[in-house]
Amino acid sequence: MMDLELIKNPKVLIDGQWWDASDGQTTSVINPATGEQIAHVPKAGQHEANEAVLAAERALHKPLSFDDRVQLVARIARLLLENKDQLARIITLEQGKPLRESIAEVEYSAGFFTQAAEQVVHLQSNTLKQRPRGLKWTVHHRPAGVAALITPWNFPLAQLAKKVSAALACGCPIVAKPSEFTPLSAIALFGLIESIGVPRGLVNLVFGEAEMIGEVFCTHPMVRVLSFTGSTRVGRLLNERASSHLKRMTLELGGSAPFIVLNDSHLEMAVDGLMASKFRCAGQTCVCASRALVEEKISDRFVEMVVDRTKRLRVGNGLDPETDLGPLINSSGYDKVALHVSDAMIRGAKMVFGSGSVGPSKAFGNFFEPRVLTEVNESMLVSREETFGPVIAIRTVRDESDAIRLANDTLYGLAAYLFTSDQDRAARVTQQLHFGHVGVNTGTGPTPEAPFGGMKDSGFGREGGLEGLLEFCETQTLASKF
Ligand code: ADP
Repeated sequence: MMDLELIKNPKVLIDGQWWDASDGQTTSVINPATGEQIAHVPKAGQHEANEAVLAAERALHKPLSFDDRVQLVARIARLLLENKDQLARIITLEQGKPLRESIAEVEYSAGFFTQAAEQVVHLQSNTLKQRPRGLKWTVHHRPAGVAALITPWNFPLAQLAKKVSAALACGCPIVAKPSEFTPLSAIALFGLIESIGVPRGLVNLVFGEAEMIGEVFCTHPMVRVLSFTGSTRVGRLLNERASSHLKRMTLELGGSAPFIVLNDSHLEMAVDGLMASKFRCAGQTCVCASRALVEEKISDRFVEMVVDRTKRLRVGNGLDPETDLGPLINSSGYDKVALHVSDAMIRGAKMVFGSGSVGPSKAFGNFFEPRVLTEVNESMLVSREETFGPVIAIRTVRDESDAIRLANDTLYGLAAYLFTSDQDRAARVTQQLHFGHVGVNTGTGPTPEAPFGGMKDSGFGREGGLEGLLEFCETQTLASKF
């Protein structure tokens, strides 16, 4: 077991107290790079989830003032930055990503709290200038109620920070459920929040039996908001299960981002964008470039440049400062990427960088060497599903309209990227792309200041910006004779 300064209580947090599971069940948190057991944590279930929802409901009846909420979220931002190195180490230990990416993740997470503190001011009550029907009309943004938050393992701190910051700024008590693979970043975050003396039950944390906990979140009448980030499969399941209970839902689901490089692109810029987008977190992000669509004339040169850059990447333990790509999260993640590569090869793709054979997955240490594939087509899994690994899949396209058609030929609608040096062309193409986030001449993903979310099977609702806060508010309109 490791001695981690911020993990004083590797337990679930309910009503201001750290608990073991009521039936005593535990599970281990494993470092995906080494297989080392980092901690034992409780495996909580329905009972704990219920208790946590009840505690949150009690907190709802003792609300913080608006100013206290603003101060709280701003304070959490500072706490994260003060503990940046410790938090980053925890992220790398349980998730595997390179330490410098973990540091960036902590800064990114803090940004959501800072932004929430700044933006929530715009949601204070506002009285209309007009007096329709001779009355005073005032619009309030009330806390929507208890918010249940479910997050995945790829950004164990940031995915939570997006939701927790918005919920707390808007006055919603929370029950969070991080991934069972990465509960330690969440424990560290909630430990820090608790350390500043928040009201009991305002923040609750449970993890363990995902289905059981999810069932409580979907059906408990006191849960008013369900905010989920994860696979489209589970998002759809939760949406179905919660639908008869009429909860507010935000679903941040999978993606299959097209990365369009047109003839007139600045090629260095495009390659930089692709490397940054594709290899962050070893390709395990929902916004990472999945399908490079490159116009014919520049395709050979582009592929050459991509291969040259990919060759230089170093795969290894995230704690090693030389590492560019850490291990994949586990053997099933590895098997999926391996399947996508072999499927592409069988269907006629050409591997222009990387070894043709993929070794078997292991219990841990599933390091996946990056690969670059060309001659990719729409029949391949790499084009149709989320690969979640360090595989660049390149397809040559005839022209702009071919690129747009293929880019939109997916059930997903999360992120897309476009490279061109012509601003009018960029405007024309982007308005035809059905994706919630579009990077133009950049591979950058979301930022706390702006709303982010998907279309189509990538879900609905937004995180970040003012829109991210609105997900946790109910609008109440007062028509008054006063
Ligand atoms: P990923 O493939 O990124 O792990 P998942 O959708 O499987 O995506 O997991 C995302 C989050 O959803 C995790 O916290 C996981 O524990 C949780 N989860 C998985 N299945 C369910 C379920 N049936 N109900 C509620 N939460 C679930």
